[in-house]
Amino acid sequence: MSELTVIIGLFLFALGASVGSFLNVLIYRTRKNQPWLAGRSVCESCKKQIAWYDNIPLLSFVLLFGKCRRCRKPLSISHPVVEGLTGLLFVWWYAVGFFFFQLSQQPFVMLQPIFWLFVGLILLFIFIYDYRYYIIPDWTVIALTSMALLYRIALVVAGIMRPEDFFWTVFGAVAASGFFYAIWLLTKRKGIGFGDVKLAAPLGLLMGWPVVWIGLWLATVVGAIIGVLLIALGKAKFGKPIPFGPFLIIGTLLALVWGDALISWYATLV
Ligand SMILES: [Zn+2]
Repeated sequence: MSELTVIIGLFLFALGASVGSFLNVLIYRTRKNQPWLAGRSVCESCKKQIAWYDNIPLLSFVLLFGKCRRCRKPLSISHPVVEGLTGLLFVWWYAVGFFFFQLSQQPFVMLQPIFWLFVGLILLFIFIYDYRYYIIPDWTVIALTSMALLYRIALVVAGIMRPEDFFWTVFGAVAASGFFYAIWLLTKRKGIGFGDVKLAAPLGLLMGWPVVWIGLWLATVVGAIIGVLLIALGKAKFGKPIPFGPFLIIGTLLALVWGDALISWYATLV
């Protein structure tokens, strides 16, 4: 690894952590129904404005021992976690993702990696939000659906994706959503949240056909394993809901990276 690579990596981590800091503000303000760009950040306990030097991503949390300078109440652990995760997302994107997503055709050489970086940020937002508040804001689903649909259409227009594959992808997204809708109805609205029904559609558009089914299957498997672990550790109870959105996102990420490999492997078995 060259010196320049390390410097760019550190810069991107810091940039990502700052974006993560903003993501936290968006999460908090979406929850409180406040406008996104309404003034400076305030302490969630004493409502006093936070000075810029107490608002440095990751660093301030460590220097303040995770407490507000004025009221000494603990700051939400969500700050350093989201900042750190976003920093890692940026570094991963630079080191692996950029080449992983890159298409050789213009304008997708640049467009495609940037598209996936934004998708990563929205997925991180939904992950944290559903984990914390057991709800998936509609605007995140709408944003993700529009982005994914435009992306697929752009691929068809550019001749990278065949129209019949586009049809199957849209069909898969609708079917995934419909499948969850059926579960939602059958379990009398308790098995999964309606947010999961809606989220399945854009995730299906991102995964494409037939990877979408691998993604849903992986989400269920990971969800079941974590659910059993949480119950065994006494952190969750039967009948008490665990948000499914984070598992849907984990399943989607796994399927995006290994979905095709899993399908080929499965084909050799049959
Ligand atoms: Zn405070």
